[in-house]
Amino acid sequence: MNESRDQLADLVRGFRAGLFAELRRGRRFVRADATPRVLRGDGVAHAEPLGIVAAADPHPTAGGLEALRVELGDCQRCRLCEQRQHIVFGIGNPVAELMFVGEAPGRDEDLQGEPFVGKAGQLLTRMIGAMGLTREAVYICNIVKCRPPNNRDPAPDEIAQCEPFLVRQIELIAPRLIVALGGFAAKTLIGTETGITRLRGKWHEYQGVPLMPTFHPAYLLRNPEGKRPVWNDLQAVMAEMDRLGLPRTR
Ligand code: SF4
Repeated sequence: MNESRDQLADLVRGFRAGLFAELRRGRRFVRADATPRVLRGDGVAHAEPLGIVAAADPHPTAGGLEALRVELGDCQRCRLCEQRQHIVFGIGNPVAELMFVGEAPGRDEDLQGEPFVGKAGQLLTRMIGAMGLTREAVYICNIVKCRPPNNRDPAPDEIAQCEPFLVRQIELIAPRLIVALGGFAAKTLIGTETGITRLRGKWHEYQGVPLMPTFHPAYLLRNPEGKRPVWNDLQAVMAEMDRLGLPRTR
């Protein structure tokens, strides 16, 4: 009895999340063959593909992200602006079903203006590939958009200044599922002090969107034994994508 009640609740939750996502997007009925569009890390200067989209697709997400990047501007809302080379806004499909959220840009990301491009980023790209996806099919960003000096953790006041932009990114993209990469992203999105070892492997929620926390790829470079649990977490994400009928084949 309890099991069927749980299944029903699960079904309703999934339906509700999907319906809200579709309503927020208003896009799924427009172009089933839509090519993924890429909004590069520093936004406007690299947004060339979006021009095509704006003409062909009335969905406002791509334009909304571009407008959000314009609003962020040459941001100096917190002290992380002082040593950054580039604002690392986010990259990928502006209507992605799956979103990866990490902690903060590192050195390579700061230099290139794109999230997850260093060694950890290359590992993330392989992980996404192993899921039957591409970087262009998902959306990747971080909690804060500028590199903290010496890769320290972002401070609470820095997160407070930057997080509204992440919140709006998530609202605009309206992903069906989120993967939080590392303890810092997981704790910030879930709003808990519980460590990643206890958070990972279980579904949580961010604003009604199912969220799976897992280890950060940078952690895996230092601790290869973490790869198996991460793969288990990603398999749970793949199973959920399949259950929701979300496309996963490249
Ligand atoms: S981290 Fe965010 S709030 Fe701080 S300067 Fe960079 S973009 Fe602005």
